[in-house]
Amino acid sequence: MVCNDVFASYVKLLSENENSFSLMNRILELFWDIYHIARVEIDFSLSDATITPNGKDTKQVFSVKEQIAKEQPDVVRRFTTIEQGVVTFSLYGAYGNAEWNEQQHKELDVILEVLFMHSGRFRLMNIVKQSVMTDAMTSLPNSHGYLSFLKEVHHNQQLADYDSYYFNLKRFGLMNKKFGKREADSIISRYASALREFIEDGECVARLGGDNFAALIKKERSKEFIALLSGVNTYGMLGDEKIPVVISATAGVCAIDDSVTHYEQVLSEASVAMNVAKNVTKEPLVYVTKELNERILNEKKVIAGFSEALERKEFKVYYQPKVETDGYSLVGAEALVRWQQDGRIVSPAEFVPVIERDGLICRLDFYVLEQVCQDIKGWMEEGVEPVRVSVNFSRRHLSNPNFAENIMDTMKRYGVDSRHIEVELTETTDEEEQGLLAAFVHKMQQYQVPVAIDDFGTGYSSLNLLRSVPVEVLKIDKSFVDGRSTTENDSVVLSNIIRMAKQLNMDVITEGVERWEQVEFLHDMECNVVQGFLFDKPLPKDIFDKRVRAKKYDITEVVDYEG
Ligand code: C2E
Ligand code: MG
Ligand code: MG
Repeated sequence: MVCNDVFASYVKLLSENENSFSLMNRILELFWDIYHIARVEIDFSLSDATITPNGKDTKQVFSVKEQIAKEQPDVVRRFTTIEQGVVTFSLYGAYGNAEWNEQQHKELDVILEVLFMHSGRFRLMNIVKQSVMTDAMTSLPNSHGYLSFLKEVHHNQQLADYDSYYFNLKRFGLMNKKFGKREADSIISRYASALREFIEDGECVARLGGDNFAALIKKERSKEFIALLSGVNTYGMLGDEKIPVVISATAGVCAIDDSVTHYEQVLSEASVAMNVAKNVTKEPLVYVTKELNERILNEKKVIAGFSEALERKEFKVYYQPKVETDGYSLVGAEALVRWQQDGRIVSPAEFVPVIERDGLICRLDFYVLEQVCQDIKGWMEEGVEPVRVSVNFSRRHLSNPNFAENIMDTMKRYGVDSRHIEVELTETTDEEEQGLLAAFVHKMQQYQVPVAIDDFGTGYSSLNLLRSVPVEVLKIDKSFVDGRSTTENDSVVLSNIIRMAKQLNMDVITEGVERWEQVEFLHDMECNVVQGFLFDKPLPKDIFDKRVRAKKYDITEVVDYEG
């Protein structure tokens, strides 16, 4: 057997290093005195189906300096690798060297076997490492891979050369619906290939899961990348048919500067900006800015303080009167919530959208309904005829199968009659939501509680909605009567909406009325009820109480509102 000392050094060398092939020259030196191996060739042949961290069909050659190898190898040994590939070692003895004897052949076999096993372990570790870092579907790095890339760039103090992106594909749910999950996955893979093609050395794009991606792009190439995000042309297969599709993304961008201390920060900030883009501004791109971070901090405060504020009864219900355009009597009111925070009155515009996104709005809406029911009960007990009060409900309630029942239960608890409550919901274009809305409205119809469509005419008005959902009341948004004078186009649209609503047996109310001329105009168009600062702003309960008792406005006291 080869000298024990040399073999011990060999094992020690391997055990102290991971990549055995990088040690080949030292290994050759180690055995030179005994075997005079002049050259070692290592051939890797891996099939297509295998993971090939070393590439397929690669050849590595190691030779001892100044020694001329023979034409033909003296020893050829083949092993099957863990990836079902083949690795071939070819050993060339130096010229002028005696042939290796049988014993030496055996020893060389042992040496190669040890080497093969050691290298296999290294490759296995690499494969595991690689697969932990790689998204199996697209072969892009996954979140681990991406974070490890960020870490390295941060370590090299190069982060400030980059913009960090977090992006989500627009309406990818539609692709799933149209092509099925499997083909939609293929579309994502094709999209990922387009991203990979764009990426240059030193940049990285990763799939974090689902249709969420992240990228670190050199600042000077950001513009091009944004263009890529705005639309990638690819296709989906429907049977044998190749259907062209354009994939665009909503992105949050963090322009990294030297103030960044944690590398994860550039990913998380971009992801927050993406969420703002998707859910708040509905724009394709939002940059991380100081203002955005402040706003997010504020939102976090709102969410953190909400439950306690609800318990402390800091939310107050205000009432804004609804007035008839015929005789100026009070015919109803809208309940509008205010947050009384340390003596300051916070408008719902500041916190409703925040808690709406979070879902906490559902608790607030029922709290408001409860307060309204309590007030109505109070008026009745005092012998004052209450007016119908409309309560705003977030569309988020629609996915609650007991939404209608919960409203009725609350009303019942206070002995409030259905003629005293109305439900306000904003319009929707989402097909699924429209179905839920229709079901809800039908239920409320059975309970004889009217439902109003709020802010009608803003966003995407869907006349289709009016056809399929039997709402009782159409609340026309204040933007129609906004401004100094209503434009001709506005009045054409408005008069037609009113006429159509009447034909569908709906009541029409216009909000945001601030001047007499608007009342007259609306009256001429047969819109019988208005709500707005002309008559009253939303009023605290004690002042509204007086209106409920009076039931009529003295129009000599009502003057145009001068914002
Ligand atoms: P909305 O339901 O469309 O309510 C009408 C808003 O228009 C109210 O703002 C009201 O003060 C304002 N307004 C009424 N007349 C005039 C006018 O003549 N001129 C002008 N410039 N504004 C007028 P507010 O109270 O700030 O409420 C804003 C929004 O917050 C509401 O819009 C509603 O969407 C939401 N909100 C308020 N309370 C609740 C609630 O309890 N639950 C839910 N889900 N949303 C609520
Ligand atoms: Mg409303
Ligand atoms: Mg409204």
